[in-house]
Amino acid sequence: MKAARAKTPRRPALKKPPAPGPKDPVGVYCRVRPLSRQDQECCIEVISETTVQIHPPDGYRVFRNGEYRETQYSFKEVFGTLVVQKDVFDVVAKPLVEDLIRGKNGLLFTYGVTGSGKTHTMTGSPGDGGLLPRCLDMIFNSIGPFQAKRFVFKLDDKNGVDVQCEVDALLERQKRDAMPVPKTPSGNRRQIDPEFADMINVQDHCKVDEVDEDNVYSVFVSYIEIYNNYIYDLLEEAPFEQIKPKPPQSKILREDQNHNMYVTGCTEVEVKSTEEAFEVFWRGQKKRRIANTQLNRESSRSHSVFIIKLAQAPLDADGDNVLQEKEQITLSQLSLVDLAGSERTNRTKAEGNRLREAGNINQSLMTLRTCIEVLRENQMYGTNKMVPYRDSKLTHLFKNYFDGEGKVRMIVCVNPKAEDYEESLQVMRFAEMTQEVEVARPVDRPLCGLTPGRRFRNQAFKEELARKLEMRGGPINGETEEQSASEIFLQNFPPLPSCELLDPNDDQTLPKLIEVLEKRHKLRQMLSEEFAKNVLAFKTTLQEFDSSVISKENYIQGKLSEKEKTIAGQKMELERLEKKIKTLEYKIEILEKTATIYEEDKRNLQQELESKSQKLQRQASDKRRLEARLQGMVAETTMKWEKECERRVAAKQLEMQNKLWVKDEKLKQLKAIVTEPKNEKPERPSRERDREKPIQRSVSPSPVPPSSNLITQVPSSQRLVSNPQVHRRSNSCSSISVASCVMEWEQKTPSHKHTGGTSYARSRQQEPEQSRDYNTSDRRRGMCWTGVIEVPRRRDELEIEEDQCCRNAPPVRLRHRRSRSAGERWVDHKPPSNLPTDTVMQPHVPHAITVAAASEKALAKCDKYMLTHQELASDGEIETKLIKGDVFKTRGGGQAVQFTEIETLKQESPTGRKRRSSPSNPDPPEDAADSEWTDVETRCSVAVEMRAGSALGPGYQHHAQPKRRKP
Ligand code: ADP
Ligand code: MG
Repeated sequence: MKAARAKTPRRPALKKPPAPGPKDPVGVYCRVRPLSRQDQECCIEVISETTVQIHPPDGYRVFRNGEYRETQYSFKEVFGTLVVQKDVFDVVAKPLVEDLIRGKNGLLFTYGVTGSGKTHTMTGSPGDGGLLPRCLDMIFNSIGPFQAKRFVFKLDDKNGVDVQCEVDALLERQKRDAMPVPKTPSGNRRQIDPEFADMINVQDHCKVDEVDEDNVYSVFVSYIEIYNNYIYDLLEEAPFEQIKPKPPQSKILREDQNHNMYVTGCTEVEVKSTEEAFEVFWRGQKKRRIANTQLNRESSRSHSVFIIKLAQAPLDADGDNVLQEKEQITLSQLSLVDLAGSERTNRTKAEGNRLREAGNINQSLMTLRTCIEVLRENQMYGTNKMVPYRDSKLTHLFKNYFDGEGKVRMIVCVNPKAEDYEESLQVMRFAEMTQEVEVARPVDRPLCGLTPGRRFRNQAFKEELARKLEMRGGPINGETEEQSASEIFLQNFPPLPSCELLDPNDDQTLPKLIEVLEKRHKLRQMLSEEFAKNVLAFKTTLQEFDSSVISKENYIQGKLSEKEKTIAGQKMELERLEKKIKTLEYKIEILEKTATIYEEDKRNLQQELESKSQKLQRQASDKRRLEARLQGMVAETTMKWEKECERRVAAKQLEMQNKLWVKDEKLKQLKAIVTEPKNEKPERPSRERDREKPIQRSVSPSPVPPSSNLITQVPSSQRLVSNPQVHRRSNSCSSISVASCVMEWEQKTPSHKHTGGTSYARSRQQEPEQSRDYNTSDRRRGMCWTGVIEVPRRRDELEIEEDQCCRNAPPVRLRHRRSRSAGERWVDHKPPSNLPTDTVMQPHVPHAITVAAASEKALAKCDKYMLTHQELASDGEIETKLIKGDVFKTRGGGQAVQFTEIETLKQESPTGRKRRSSPSNPDPPEDAADSEWTDVETRCSVAVEMRAGSALGPGYQHHAQPKRRKP
């Protein structure tokens, strides 16, 4: 029943919706106190400015199975053992004081186990004041000159504040002065209680920078204790009864119209200085101590709450008095809470009554914990669970800090000693959780709407007035401080004479008085006129000033707008340039990338070039080697053949001469027989005579005199004149033996054509008439022979050579020969190095393309090739050779020449030694089968292949094949 009555029923209509706007998390700080003894085991370390690490003490694991690990906890800031009170104050409490002066509520509490330094942090110790005295000091340093006179602000019993007029305030002041209770020291530090003087002797002189100077302020303090879930007023002045002390009466909580909770009937003392405020606190502290001793309580089991309320109201328009409007008064409060030790009951080994107390104390801390948990859950997960503030007085009192708005900060005090390890862990967990709760940030109070700077204008006016009065000989500043302006004026008027009427017939006093009063009246009039004049002058000055200010403002406005325009233009330009920079940067990037790609390409191409040039060099050196080898081979073969030729020529000459001799003998005998009837005795010619004139008998008469003619070296039987005319002519006038020889050869020729099988033979088979009658074919080809031509060689030798030629010839399809239906065309290759022979008979090829060097172009157009080659013969005469060949198309698209025959032309002096000249005609001697006779044997079985685009002449790839002798 009692509990039900204690709890005020909830008023759902008043339930405030959660404050919108920005929220701040509860600021949680950690302070680690030093160990009391150096040899104590430490289990907490500060590892950074925001983190502490807790590790279990030695042997802890033995008792608790496993779970040995170091835990780190992070806070907004961690204060190590060396951090002094001032630093803690600057970080934690200073912002709360600043908020208080700006009309915002704040809550600061210390949490931790007993002996962890909560009281040390909050109250401090002698010579080392804690947060509380420092807060008070900062408040009074800030509002000191702007404080209202005592009793101007009056707190009502509903947690509100009223403002009283000066008279009422004065009356109350007088009443208070008359009371027998000892007055608290008002601003005089000489009267400070030496008991706590050390604690408030703060040298820092900390103050808030921006205090509204047009406000007046008043500070009220109250000090309560929550013990066993009862609220006690520590400042209550109860008559102390020696005989039977009354137990202190507990107070109840109420909610005001702003949803703030307050303790009904709680003593709130208006204080005007730090000393006075702290004196009040100290009184409460003493009372608390007495109660603890008297009632056998444990001090660490109670929560103490020191509430600083700050009332502020704006000055009126004159800046002289407080604005008498209740709505303009702001009341803010800062609650400094020193919580009871958070340790669990079993640790203190409390018994009986004490256990109940401890349990209750723990209960309120548990409720605090639960409230924080639910709040956190609601905020994090969007749930709407009811926060059990009402379950304990402690949480109920500060309900609106969490539900409404305000700044909440908590200092977690820990003792790093090993014995406190488990409790410290609990403290840390609670602290970490608390950090996640968010509280609505208090909003700024609205402005009163009056011109700022009123207080100073009023002060300045007063000062100026005093100065002027002093100049007029009035009372000096110090004396007139309390006097009104009218009093000062009155003092300047002529003194009134004594107006005491002692005699009814006294007719002097009254006229004198009238005279003085008239004088005063005149003076007053003068003064008021002067005042009016001054006012007028001041007004005009003000107006002038106003207009000048306005014109200046206009000017400034114009300038400002101009500047703004320029700024806008520059901004645009800046933006444009920035964009341009970006595009350029992008372009540069692309170009850089392209450059890299090109460079890579270049590298690759260079490498390729190098490899190719190396390959080329290799090929060139290969070619040079091959050339050298071929040249060597050519020279060797030429030498060999020359030697062989010379040997055979010599042998043949000898043999022929013998045969000639035999035939001559026979002829002579025949002649002798024929001429026998005339000359009875036939004469046998001597061998020497035969030798003297063989040519006259055997050689066909030349068309020109022998002195200037070409004479072959061939014996008459083997000689053939390729020119048909020459042939005919020789026929007509030559001896019988020559004619018979020719006949004989012509009859033998067909037998040769069947011996073929080589390309040469095949070509002959295709043209049997040509092979049969060389002269005819020559005629058909349109060749005109003006010199004596040697017969190529013996047929059997030819065969062998042509075999070889086929074996060694380039891979040319010899059948792929140009069609001759269109008529043969010749390439007449005459190297410019050739000397003119100046002979009468010159080789002449009609319709030939004459070239100085072998050219593929010319070869492509023709099907026959002739090279005119000159060399020095062994007798010193120039020997001209006509090397002839057929032109073939090669598979590679070029031209190939296969040499088929060589004609040798030679000029001879008639006086010189006669040499044989081989006829170029395939004119075999009559006994060719067994004769070893051979021509110069330079008949070529060489094919010169010219590829398309090749600049080499046929001479460069001349393959001479050594002739094989028939076994
Ligand atoms: P609590 O109020 O938490 O029970 P107290 O504030 O009474 O603990 O501190 C217990 C003891 O430890 C006191 O004697 C106090 O001087 C000392 N102490 C606590 N914190 C500090 C500190 N930061 N530096 C020095 N001494 C400290
Ligand atoms: Mg304490």
